[in-house]
Amino acid sequence: MVMTKVMVMDLPWLEVPLINALATARSHALLVQGPAGVGQFDLAMLLAQAWLCEAPLADHRGACGQCASCRLFKARTHPDFQLLVPEALREPLGLPPANADENGEAKVSKTKPSKEIKVDAVRATLAFAQGTSARGRAKVVVVYPAESLNHVAANTLLKTLEEPAGQLRFVLASTAPEALLPTIRSRCQAFPLGLPQREAALAWLAGQGVEAPEVLLDATGGRPQEARDWYVAGLRANAWQQLPQRLARGDAQALADWPPPRAIDALQRLCHDLLRRVHAVPPTYFAPAALPAPTLAAPLLAWEAVLRRAARHAEHPLNAGLLIESLFAQGQSALREATVRR
Ligand SMILES: [Zn+2]
Repeated sequence: MVMTKVMVMDLPWLEVPLINALATARSHALLVQGPAGVGQFDLAMLLAQAWLCEAPLADHRGACGQCASCRLFKARTHPDFQLLVPEALREPLGLPPANADENGEAKVSKTKPSKEIKVDAVRATLAFAQGTSARGRAKVVVVYPAESLNHVAANTLLKTLEEPAGQLRFVLASTAPEALLPTIRSRCQAFPLGLPQREAALAWLAGQGVEAPEVLLDATGGRPQEARDWYVAGLRANAWQQLPQRLARGDAQALADWPPPRAIDALQRLCHDLLRRVHAVPPTYFAPAALPAPTLAAPLLAWEAVLRRAARHAEHPLNAGLLIESLFAQGQSALREATVRR
């Protein structure tokens, strides 16, 4: 048998999960679940393209990438495909705004783009689901992230998930499957997507132009897309490695340029690793040599609780700069109290 080259893939570590998902899919609805930042959305799109492809590769290796259906899919004009994402995610995913005019420009809107998938969007998708497949192979709906379906939207989708029309297939992707309605989960076949192999992730990051990729991959707990996003946002390996010592010195400028949610996230990771040092467990996000060596857990646990509360409101801080400075100062005193000589 001649092995044709596997379809061009931006995230090479998805090759094996894609084959496994295509080979084991028995249900009309798959739920891809696992950590963020490892290509959930990309896998959902690869599955959709493969199910719609008119000349799919042998051995469940996915879409051909060249047929008429694949060309329509890549142009995002496939008549048998629907994508349900929150308005706020359209731009980060490279999609035109949902309310775009004929020139692709967004109409001026006073409201912030929603982070929820709303019932209107689900109803439009269900209308799409009623008709027959335009190209005769399948109809596919991708829902990402599935936990952003609000309650009404989820209940509206449920009816179609229960009784799908003939060729209709769903891929739901979620980093928080426990937040989905149990009735939604039970209608789907779960497909776990875990962290990629370290070597594959490092090679991909290097190919994306990320310097010192091992530091940023560790900083994000092994999630290569997140590491790339942090790098693009300006995080550099040496700044990350210096963060623990800058906390010890109370130098809050270390996080001054970061958006509050990301700065709080960074402090949470640092706190997590300091607690691991207390318990003599290898750190997760920082190199051991970069970390101070606290010995008491209690002050750090108190700081951790403060950070968790701040993270819940990080999207709308009244004064972001003051908030981060205050969290940093609390971290510095927690670290000092936690570091006692025996
Ligand atoms: Zn194709």
